[in-house]
Amino acid sequence: MTRYIFITGGVVSSLGKGLASAALASLLQARGFSVRLRKLDPYLNVDPGTMSPYQHGEVYVTDDGAETDLDLGHYERFTGVSALQSDNVTTGRIYSDILAKERKGEYLGATVQVVPHVTNAIKDFALADLNGEDFVICEIGGTVGDIEGAPFLEAIRQLGYKLGRERALFLHLTLVPFIAAAGELKTKPTQHSVKELQSVGIHPDILLCRADREIPENERAKIALFCNLDQSAVIQALDVDSIYRVPLSYHEEGLDREVLRHFNLTSPEPDLTRWQEIVKRVTEPEGKVTIGVVGKYVNLLDAYKSLAEALTHGGIANNAKVEMRWIDSEIFEEEDPELHLSGVHGILVPGGFGERGSSGKIAAVRHARERQIPYFGICFGMQMAVLEMARNLAGIENAASSEFGATNQPVVGLMTEWERDGDIQRRSDDDDLGGTMRLGAYDCKLSAGTRVAEIYGEEMISERHRHRYEVNPTYRAELEKAGVVFSGLSPDERLPEIIELPESEHPWFVGVQFHPELKSRPFEPHPLFVSFINAAVTQSRLV
Ligand code: GLN
Repeated sequence: MTRYIFITGGVVSSLGKGLASAALASLLQARGFSVRLRKLDPYLNVDPGTMSPYQHGEVYVTDDGAETDLDLGHYERFTGVSALQSDNVTTGRIYSDILAKERKGEYLGATVQVVPHVTNAIKDFALADLNGEDFVICEIGGTVGDIEGAPFLEAIRQLGYKLGRERALFLHLTLVPFIAAAGELKTKPTQHSVKELQSVGIHPDILLCRADREIPENERAKIALFCNLDQSAVIQALDVDSIYRVPLSYHEEGLDREVLRHFNLTSPEPDLTRWQEIVKRVTEPEGKVTIGVVGKYVNLLDAYKSLAEALTHGGIANNAKVEMRWIDSEIFEEEDPELHLSGVHGILVPGGFGERGSSGKIAAVRHARERQIPYFGICFGMQMAVLEMARNLAGIENAASSEFGATNQPVVGLMTEWERDGDIQRRSDDDDLGGTMRLGAYDCKLSAGTRVAEIYGEEMISERHRHRYEVNPTYRAELEKAGVVFSGLSPDERLPEIIELPESEHPWFVGVQFHPELKSRPFEPHPLFVSFINAAVTQSRLV
């Protein structure tokens, strides 16, 4: 029997609903239950694929090629369960499906309405494509009271009623702020938020209250009284020093116990040793390295969420704290990279789009290559590495990417054709922007004897992609002559997936066309990040 936990948020946004959902899922898992996590997003975009990282943070890509909310990254990192297209939906997707059906006449003359058509579509989504999981945790994006969230709350209200108390639980995440002038924590915003939820017919079963300090017993009793709850169902969620401590902290506060109590379930105490071990390594590292991340969206770290986590995981594996120095690549268009990169033990250029800042990224690659600093290029960062070496090693002076406009040396060019599961995918310049990149998991064949073959210890790997351009294979021979090793290719050997410099030339220089950060997990750090941080540790002993 699959049970549903619906998670809503109140008072303010950014309380960490995604993390809370992921942490709860990991606790249920640690008690032996199987879990699936889903995110219902009320915004109108069909998916976050076309949104600016400044609007939305990172776009998380699943194995099956969905461009999804970054919370799905938390879900995967905390549970190890790979997310799918069927785990994230938006108002935009629901409406676009409904409108397409309406145009086909599939509603047989009915008036198409928010209730029941939109709410039914939301419920269908929540119920579909499951594998008999013990728990489905459905996070509702936004904050209670948002206009656009109303159909979602109505849908989960109906679903909760239909499933019954023994199969549905409503958990509400709120904030209990400390008001300095009064010297007190205040419960009123939580009371109001619960009222708002009750006004749409949802009565929360558990309140998870974010606070920056202990919520005194009597304040918790007050919240319980005003919100019709047992005091044990008012759980404090205190700020912690590492996100990986959240499952441990929730467990101490009794969250998983309370969830099981609601469902009348019993289970042995969870085994949380792996979380304890991870927290220990994150909070008590033996060494420290600094990685310079040269990108565009460095003012909003959510834009590089998975990347920052994967670097941390690389640190976990090497028992080192990874300090990230975020640098806006545009600076290098005017200033010497040395000014900003001195003292770093590794340089990483992450994924990116568009010409702005690209020459600064190329300058960063050159700096890393010439000064023998470990370099890791991801997607755009690989493409920029190839342009740098095409220009400065292979003598192709005008080497460019067709992403930046017409060029007579398209060393990086628009990908117009590729294979997916035996089908040929075709694209052209004037295609829609949304959902038309090379997306999702693709196999990649590694060449024996190369650095990456050794790092992965495998011949065939699968990694997630999200790009429209590729290193143009017609330049391969020229680049190889200049010393670039094409160490990973698509199985049909047409698309360059990984380039590297041999160990004799550089301590660690790897560029990958895919996004390895999306598959890194704290208890299963990605081999490329483990190896890159290891190289940075070695570097830190040299400088
Ligand atoms: N803009 C590049 C492309 O579309 C790289 C994309 C990325 O870094 N994810 O190919």
